[in-house]
Amino acid sequence: MPVLLKIRQNFRLRTARGLFLCVLCAALMGALTAGASGPVHAMAEEEIILQSNADGSVTADLFAMDTYMSLKAYGKNAKEALRAGAEEIRRLDRLLSTGREDSEISVLNKDGAAVLSEDVFGLFGRALEIGEETGGIFNVTIYPVMKLWGFPEKDYRVPSEEELSAALALADPGSVETDQNTRRVQFLKEGMAADLGGIAKGYTGARVTEIFREHGVDSGLVSLGGNVQALGTKPGGKKWKVAIQDPEGGTDYLGVLEVADEAVITSGAYERYFEENGVRYHHIIDPADGYPADSGVVSSTIVSSDGTLADALSTSLYIMGTEKAEEFWRECGGTFDYVLEAEDGTLYVTEGIADRFESTRKRVTVRKDG
Ligand code: ADP
Ligand code: MG
Repeated sequence: MPVLLKIRQNFRLRTARGLFLCVLCAALMGALTAGASGPVHAMAEEEIILQSNADGSVTADLFAMDTYMSLKAYGKNAKEALRAGAEEIRRLDRLLSTGREDSEISVLNKDGAAVLSEDVFGLFGRALEIGEETGGIFNVTIYPVMKLWGFPEKDYRVPSEEELSAALALADPGSVETDQNTRRVQFLKEGMAADLGGIAKGYTGARVTEIFREHGVDSGLVSLGGNVQALGTKPGGKKWKVAIQDPEGGTDYLGVLEVADEAVITSGAYERYFEENGVRYHHIIDPADGYPADSGVVSSTIVSSDGTLADALSTSLYIMGTEKAEEFWRECGGTFDYVLEAEDGTLYVTEGIADRFESTRKRVTVRKDG
């Protein structure tokens, strides 16, 4: 029997709830190796469940950044590494969340200027850079548009064209001033606001694996709401198997990837959306018109050793569509690979991962030389 350890922070855990959480652990670890996410039950905010498993691994489950997370580590320092990794997640959540009034991002959004900590300034700068590289498709100042659609407050509505064009004028990364020396960020237009939601979990996953390494752990797997970052290989040297969720839901998968020291990050319209008059409106916004992206891609997965990049690009390639994505991938020259699912169910898989992605679906291999 696995040993169950519970770390209590601000809560007293009732027995019934403890039992429920045991079940949750098992469910989450199933989801982790499968790369899937999804609410299992309402987990209290400060809870972290640590569990030692029969295969020598230790796992930690927690709820943060609005999603269920599961961390797994092997080796003699696994527990300390997991505790430190979970703490890092909480720390970054407090700094980055637009949903917390006192986060650095919320203070920047409220005041229109702020001196940021090293992490936040660095990530913000990276988001701006990727914005330039994607020709403005990744847009860290998209928040006024997100608010208009009601995504942050879950108070959804379809905005008018006038409202959208006013909000889009504020979604302007060219009107952000940054100072490397003081780490000060300033918006040049009244009403501008930033949102790191498209990149934060990828960065967090990368930080957690760094912390694992600092604790002497060289084999682990981090799943932040289905965004997976692998550290090393499984003990014994075999690659991790990570399944890509089917956007149609259910227990089906698009396929299974073999990875080592890489992030596998998926964006899809199925994660956050609302419906009005039979139309589905989701949370990935095309900055060209302010509407939810409608590029013909229904699921976008990026594989890269750079988790931050993988997250930002999963969002970006979802907006680009298959043709633009292919062009962009060739320009980027080997920094990432992808699996894109098109509306008709065809999978587009780049050649860097083609021989380690198993799938029964119809697929096309995307090659460098076209
Ligand atoms: P998830 O965080 O649900 O896994 P994504 O990584 O694709 O999904 O990020 C979607 C989030 O990114 C949105 O909730 C919003 O915060 C932000 N976002 C939406 N559109 C854009 C965009 N064009 N550029 C940058 N960030 C965006
Ligand atoms: Mg993303």
